[in-house]
Order: sequence, then structure tokens, then C-alpha cells
Amino acid sequence: MKSSKDIAELLNEPACEHNKKEKSGCAKPKPGSAAGGCAFDGAQIALLPIADVAHIVHGPIACAGSSWDNRGTRSSGSELYRIGMTTDLTEQDIVMGRSEKRLFHSIKQSIDSYNPPAVFIYNTCVPALVGDDLNAICKYATERWQVPVIPIDCAGFYGTKNLGNRIAGDAMVKYVIGTRDPDPLPPSAEHAGFKIHDVNLIGEYNIAGEFWHVLPLLDEMGLRVLCTLSGDARFREVQTMHKAEVNMMVCSKAMVNVARNLNKQYGTPWFEGSFYGITDTSQALRDFARMLNDPDLTQRTEAIIEREETRIRNALEPWKARLKGKRVLLFTGGVKSWSVISALQDLGMVVVATGTKKSTEEDKARIRELMGEDALMIEDGSPRALLKIVHDYQADILIAGGRNMYTALKARIPFLDINQEREFGYAGFQGMLELVRQLALTIESPVWKAVRTPMPWKVVTRSPEHSEPESEPITPDQTSLARNAG
Ligand code: SF4
Repeated sequence: MKSSKDIAELLNEPACEHNKKEKSGCAKPKPGSAAGGCAFDGAQIALLPIADVAHIVHGPIACAGSSWDNRGTRSSGSELYRIGMTTDLTEQDIVMGRSEKRLFHSIKQSIDSYNPPAVFIYNTCVPALVGDDLNAICKYATERWQVPVIPIDCAGFYGTKNLGNRIAGDAMVKYVIGTRDPDPLPPSAEHAGFKIHDVNLIGEYNIAGEFWHVLPLLDEMGLRVLCTLSGDARFREVQTMHKAEVNMMVCSKAMVNVARNLNKQYGTPWFEGSFYGITDTSQALRDFARMLNDPDLTQRTEAIIEREETRIRNALEPWKARLKGKRVLLFTGGVKSWSVISALQDLGMVVVATGTKKSTEEDKARIRELMGEDALMIEDGSPRALLKIVHDYQADILIAGGRNMYTALKARIPFLDINQEREFGYAGFQGMLELVRQLALTIESPVWKAVRTPMPWKVVTRSPEHSEPESEPITPDQTSLARNAG
């Protein structure tokens, strides 16, 4: 079990903007507010996309059952990460002191059945409280089966989901990164005519396969991606991350401790960027060239950007006409609160307000840069507050995470999922086309007109006997939505 000193060290993350305010690993939920995931959930969600690893949740079935596969990350090969594995502890195991034994057998079973390159063990509240010695079991299992068994000590009660992300990153730095060198470049690389550079992406989860929109561009630039931590990653790739020339933190500070530690231990420089929107995607490619300080790469990168921007702007033209001037309420967290704004503004849409619940002061400064000094930033994400803003600011669509879906749909407001559960990839130049398509389909769907039309049996009618209307009074949300019904 982690000591309070270990947890305090993880909470004190110098590279995180929140640190200036409070060393808390992001805001703690207040009593009465709906809490996000626990530290275990955060750690698992950060590492589960490593596709060929056996991920075992050491705890009661509910920990694994409630969190399995909750990020729509895609793999180009192995599907092992999608098999939910747990030690499924019961009261009997706890009372009889059998939980360590169960873990040991689970590791054996996963290795016997799937022969994975590594096994990750996620600790949860119950075994942490019982006092299972996770490190000792993992060490013994590694020696016994000659397969790396990595302890991720992330019991839920240690703290928030954000702390869990850091615990996951910390475990990778401690036990995995630096344990193998990358494969040599293939002979064909010599004939490429330019220098190949090795890079990493940290915090890229390949949700709905969106990183596959970006990877061909990096290939063309001559960047070999050693590892994306953790979307579509393989264990052997994570092992080589120390050899990259530059790291990019993609759209998320969740694992910023990995970038900082790689910088500290191996001197690898890092920058923060986003692949959402044309402007930000171009900027990220430019930043790679700038950080690598290769004039030839800079030149080729500019040519690629020019070609891609022209292509995508032409393709977006017919869609832009349909979306221009549409008003958006964006409620998402962290870096996405500004990176998606720039993508929407590229399309000529008006962002009426954006959520800043998990945003840093730096994120807020970028929002002001994009939306002006008077930008409306929302902290309160309760259904009532969101619907009020939709109404007051005449928003045409709510773009938010999946948990707000029913708020929007029950109020008959067009809704687009922007968070991890989404079905479509919006990254890169190509992702903009998908985003614009989904926005147009959502806003223009005939369903809104149908659901906003008063029900025929509630239409006001007058009969000779009754002079009063028979219908129910129209609710405020119906009147506010009548405008959208067109
Ligand atoms: S808080 Fe503890 S018991 Fe609940 S899901 Fe997280 S690890 Fe499991």
C-alpha cells in the first residue's frame, strides 16, 4: 500500500498548473456533487489502451465491472486489453486471508491462457486495506514466469481519478520505460533522403481510432513514433520511450509527470499540443519541427501543412455554409476546453460558453485569447445550470461528455459527445471533416422537429361544453426550444 509520503509526492507535480493553487492532484469533489472516478479508475483508464498487456484488477468484481472498457480506444492488432480480468475477491477470500493467493493464481492463469508480454496488476481499496503486498507478489511472479508483472498501486481511496493517471504514469516510469532499446531503423529508412527522428506522444488514447488520422502525416514528415502512451500501444513500445528525441503531451496534462520525469532522467524535451482543429494540428506539426531543430524537416513540414490545409479547407467548404453562425455550448474539461473552441471557430461557429471545471489558469488564458476577455466560463456543470445557459444564450447544440447526454436529450437539445466514450475520431485534418459531418447531422436531424412538436393529444382544443383548454401548460424548456424547432 502506498504511504502518505508517496501520495503527497505524486500530488506535488511541478509541471501541473494546478500545483500553483493547491497540491491536490485536481479539485476534490465536494459533498453533494457527483464525483468522478476514483484513483483506480484513473490509473486503469490511462493504461488500458496498451493493447497486448493482460490487465488484472485485484479486487471485488464491482471495481472491474464498473470501469471495464469505458474508453472507446482502438487497437490495430491485439485485442487482449478488451478482456476484463479480475481476481474477483469475495468476503470469504478476505476472511480466510486468501486474496494474495488468488492474485498469484490469476497472474498464472493470464500467462497460461494468453501468453502476454506483460501483466499489469491494479490494486483496489479492499486488498490495499487488507494489506496485500502487491510489490512482493509481482516481483515473485516476474521471477517465477519470466514475464514482467507490473504493480499499479492505485487503490480508489488514495484520491481522485487525476491522481490515478499520475500513479499510472509513475508506474510506467519506474518499472517499464528504459527496459529495452528501440529496434534499429529498417534498411529502407536509409533511402528516405532525410533524417528519421524518434518521438513519443503522451496522453494520446486513440479514441475511436482518431490517431490514425495523424499518424500518416508524422510518417511523411519522417517521425518514427516510438510509443503513444497509451493509445494503440504495445508493451515493447512503452519500454523504449526513453530514447525519443522529443515528447508531445497531447491534449491532456493527466500524465504530465511522465513527460517531466523523462525530461529529468533522460533530458528529453517536451511540448504540449493538440490535434483538434486545423490551426492546432498545424501548430503541433510545426512544434515537432521546431523542437527537433532540423531545417530540412521544417521545410518539409511547411509543405505538408500547406497541402493538407488547402485540401481540408476545400473539403470543409460545403459543410461550413451549413454550420456558419450556429451557436455552441461547449462543456468539457482541461485542454479540450480551448482546443475544441479553435476547431469550432475554424468552422465559423460561435462558442457561447465553455466549461472550465478541470482547466488550469493557463487553459483559461487561452480561452480568453480565443473567445475574448468576456468569455463565459462555466464551473457548474449541473443539468439545471447547463440548460439555463443553453436557454439564455440561445445555443443550437450542447457539446459535452457522455454523462450530459441525457440532460440534453431529455430537454430535446441536439447533443454531440466529445469525450472518451465517443464513437467518432475528430483528431487531425481528416478528423475535422468527421467533426463537421457529425455536427451537421446532429443539428439538422429531423428528430428535433419531431420531438418538439406538441403531442397531438395535448394540442389546445375547445369544445362547446368546456371553455378552458384541455392541454397541459407548456413548460419553460418547451418554449425555449421552440426557436430551435425552426
Ligand atoms: S473506490 Fe475503491 S472500491 Fe470503489 S471502484 Fe474505486 S477501487 Fe474499487
